[in-house]
Amino acid sequence: MNGKLYLVATPIGNLEDITLRALRILKEVDYIAAEDTRNTLKLLNHFEIKKPLISNHRHNEEEREDGLIEKLKEGKNIAVVSDAGTPGICDPGEIVIKKCIQENIKVIPIPGACAFVNALIGSGINTDTFLFLGFLPLNKKNRKQKLEQIKDSIQTVIIYEAPHKLQTTLKDLKEFVESREIVLARELTKIHEEFIRGNIEEIIEKSEFLKGEMIILIEGRQEIKIEEKQQEFKDMSLEEHYELY
Ligand code: SAM
Repeated sequence: MNGKLYLVATPIGNLEDITLRALRILKEVDYIAAEDTRNTLKLLNHFEIKKPLISNHRHNEEEREDGLIEKLKEGKNIAVVSDAGTPGICDPGEIVIKKCIQENIKVIPIPGACAFVNALIGSGINTDTFLFLGFLPLNKKNRKQKLEQIKDSIQTVIIYEAPHKLQTTLKDLKEFVESREIVLARELTKIHEEFIRGNIEEIIEKSEFLKGEMIILIEGRQEIKIEEKQQEFKDMSLEEHYELY
């Protein structure tokens, strides 16, 4: 019988945020596939868990996939963990998950910390509907497309960013977000956790010398402009007008 693949969320800073179920699964599985085995080893040592580790980082995920699938087919249970938070969210996991689904191997997510969820609920910006973009692409053309998408979004937009690229990204956002509210969620669950609020210019100024992990949240565009509404109305087919009435 095939083993199971567990996707285990780990803390994003505060070690108390690991769940009882996550600890039990980490103790019970045969192997732990880790984004960075040194980081995971620190976590396991803290909770006195001893387990064989397999390296599964972004650059070797495709090579590792076959080995993991082989072990799962031998009936071994494997937990996938990333350095922090939920595996598969801007972290390795997706490739082996897809392969398991193809091979009829059971995939079981073990919920826990996920940085953008905490950032969103603490931001005070609309949580009903949101657009999670992960990291913005570095390629100029793709980046411009994403910035245009942000400009048009009526949903709250969430972006991950590395600390050393924060200022560049905020400056790139400047002409696309007008006066919309921006929140920087910084060092979540850690000692210096804070939410910094303001318009884009204020945020650029307040964050110039900031260090630590950060997430950018952008209020959705307020509403469709009247001219756009009129154009939308003009573009509707006869059937759509009929449906509307
Ligand atoms: N898998 C993780 C999750 O569940 O959110 C995300 C990993 S991604 C490689 C790392 C990015 O997540 C960072 O650049 C930052 O934008 C965000 N992040 C992770 N931990 C954070 C924290 N404690 N505070 C603020 N942002 C954090």
